[in-house]
Amino acid sequence: MKITDVRTFLYANPDVNPRFGPILFVRVDTDAGISGWGEGSTWAGGSALIVDYGLRQIRDMLIGRDPSEIEAIWHDIYRRYTYMGSRGMPTQMLSAIDIALWDIKGKDLVRPIYDLLGGKVRETVPVYANAWWPDDAHEPRDFAEAALRTVELGHQAMKIDPFSEMAEAFPGYVSGEITPEHESRGIARIAAIREAVGPNIHILIDAHGQYDVPSAIRVADRLAELDIAWLEEPVPPESHDALRQVRENTAVPICVGERLFTRFDFAPILERRLADFVMPDVCWTGGISELRRIGALAEAHYVPLSPHNAAGPIQIAAGSHVGMTTPNFYRLEHAMNWIPAYNAPLREPLGFESDFLTVSDRPGLGIEVDEDYLEAHRYLESGTVG
Ligand SMILES: [Mg+2]
Repeated sequence: MKITDVRTFLYANPDVNPRFGPILFVRVDTDAGISGWGEGSTWAGGSALIVDYGLRQIRDMLIGRDPSEIEAIWHDIYRRYTYMGSRGMPTQMLSAIDIALWDIKGKDLVRPIYDLLGGKVRETVPVYANAWWPDDAHEPRDFAEAALRTVELGHQAMKIDPFSEMAEAFPGYVSGEITPEHESRGIARIAAIREAVGPNIHILIDAHGQYDVPSAIRVADRLAELDIAWLEEPVPPESHDALRQVRENTAVPICVGERLFTRFDFAPILERRLADFVMPDVCWTGGISELRRIGALAEAHYVPLSPHNAAGPIQIAAGSHVGMTTPNFYRLEHAMNWIPAYNAPLREPLGFESDFLTVSDRPGLGIEVDEDYLEAHRYLESGTVG
């Protein structure tokens, strides 16, 4: 089998906040009539457009290659960009291709991808909810009521960034400080949520890498009293020493990884015991191949894998196949309010059932993309995105 074409599709989803920019799909075609789908969505600063451009640059190096040689192609793309820095934008386009090649392999062998990765270790994939509160939520009671509704739907774990002051500037980081008023407002929101949902629900806090060390430690200590399940990216991703300083000075579990790329970024985090959970993004860190490898690396340190998701449905599907076959798996992220948006470009909806996801046993990713939807919602570049 040979690759005959690589095509990208940028589409805008009207149900998702335009701040997130367009979703980027890639379709890899073969001379066997099998096509595989991948996703390279990324956001802020028009980065999906940059990845789209990058994917068009590697089209020629892929045409004529055997799509079954996923590992060789992975390394060829990764090393091609070693002078500009392989981790980041290059691993995002690499991720899209890797996912599409696994889809092709599964369709060719008529097996779901999780079967090719070693077979299932669970029947369904546990998920946690993000984006479960209404856009106009402001007061602690608004979040408490939404949290209770989310639990009543069956969810056992939910994530939020309650510190809206810095969220408005996201992904910016300037001083790393938070005002006492906004800090107390965020803590009050979490306290109200904890009181509403009781002690057994996992509350995950996303700090979005926006704090300096003293702010992160102070916020973490206040959150520890509310028994949160993790504090995510308490400091920006560059400094392991800063992360260690936070970790050694607070009791809350720490999660990092959406801005870490490939096993090479995760190895020191795990070796130095800097996180209790790791959260690679399958569309950013190197695809299904790399998510599986990072999961195994984490397993050797008894650390759970919990993939980050903030984009489209192929990202969800790709992560769910790894979730089916990874023993040390916590939960797969999804945005609860986006489920209609995830399903919009698919002919069959994803198998969300509140607290878990049922993964299709059809060949490959087990999804069928509606190309008419992609065409009808084609993203027209009209200035900056995100
Ligand atoms: Mg995050």
